[in-house]
Amino acid sequence: MPAPGLTTRALQTEMLVLQPTPFCNLDCSYCYLPQRHLRARMAPATARLAARRLRDEGLLGDELTVVWHAGEPLVLPPAYYEAAFAAVADGLGGAAIRLTHAIQTNATLLDEAWCDFLQRHRVAVGISVDGPAALHDRHRRTRRGAGTHAAVERAIARLQARGLPFHAIAVVTADTLADPDAFYDWFERRGITELGCNIDEAEGPHPASSLAGAAPGPGHEAAHAAFLARLLERSRQGRVVVRELAAAWRLLRQPPPAGALNPQTRPLAIVSVAHDGGFSTFSPELLGQAAPAWGGFVLGNVHQGGFRAALQREPFAGLWRDIAAGVAACEQACPWFALCGGGAPVNKWYERGSFAATETLYCRSMVQRPLAAVLRRAEIDLGLAA
Ligand code: SF4
Repeated sequence: MPAPGLTTRALQTEMLVLQPTPFCNLDCSYCYLPQRHLRARMAPATARLAARRLRDEGLLGDELTVVWHAGEPLVLPPAYYEAAFAAVADGLGGAAIRLTHAIQTNATLLDEAWCDFLQRHRVAVGISVDGPAALHDRHRRTRRGAGTHAAVERAIARLQARGLPFHAIAVVTADTLADPDAFYDWFERRGITELGCNIDEAEGPHPASSLAGAAPGPGHEAAHAAFLARLLERSRQGRVVVRELAAAWRLLRQPPPAGALNPQTRPLAIVSVAHDGGFSTFSPELLGQAAPAWGGFVLGNVHQGGFRAALQREPFAGLWRDIAAGVAACEQACPWFALCGGGAPVNKWYERGSFAATETLYCRSMVQRPLAAVLRRAEIDLGLAA
């Protein structure tokens, strides 16, 4: 029997997150990865099996993005990915889909050989960089405590010299909020035109966000609202597209159908597979976290059984019950629901202790405030507000 309220026929996977290794060569202050000291690696056979199961279980649509993440992907050499990409293609077995490989990297190991590989395979590249050196080096450090900004700048220059496209993702901490112009200027000066602004999130081994401030104080949310409003003004006049604000404009212009809005709350829309074949769904950040009550959020292992079969048993059934309850509660309580779809389960769990919860610091920062900033600007443009 499927879990209550779940229609398994309509399930479709948009994103397959593969963990080539849990290891990371850095030790950033806000990192959520619990096993980043572990030098294990995924066998290509595991990647092949994950892709094969998606195909054989009828979970593929027209497009699939394979994201190599949940550790620093570039600590393994390009030769590893030659074999792993071939294994994924073999697993998909000629399925008629648009396949994109994507990596999110700290870029400290990105050399010419990597540029060759990324170019050859048209990999979608995301570079983690927090803006000016002082901000970046305060949080993004090596295991010996040295800053990494100079290495990331070299990698960016390398990609740009080769004409290879990439986007940047910054983590916005309380430190970032003081000077939005210096932050924006850094990306514009480097010729970076696509910027995602994540926030410092409370997740896994990083239990508190700097944006939340010291309980029970108000934290830094008003400052974050002002920061976003300033980024909006700058990006309207400049060349840097800020992902959250651009997404908010798109949502307001053309809200997607409710069922397509939020892959983090749709079973198997995102499938995350760990280096050893253990798999999870919903928020990718759940993979590998210590959560004994939920079996570490591991729903099964691709070497032992399929994705659909895992939906018939615990811990999926309990997870789905609580996540669906959280989405229903959001729908009842939140005026932003039609543009959000019920938020990110991982943040509900780590901030509120329950998947059935509603509002979080994360959703206020990443959903509500960008939408509010854009709405306010639209009202001013239309002469409805001063
Ligand atoms: S914005 Fe927050 S409270 Fe509103 S629907 Fe999304 S997750 Fe729920």
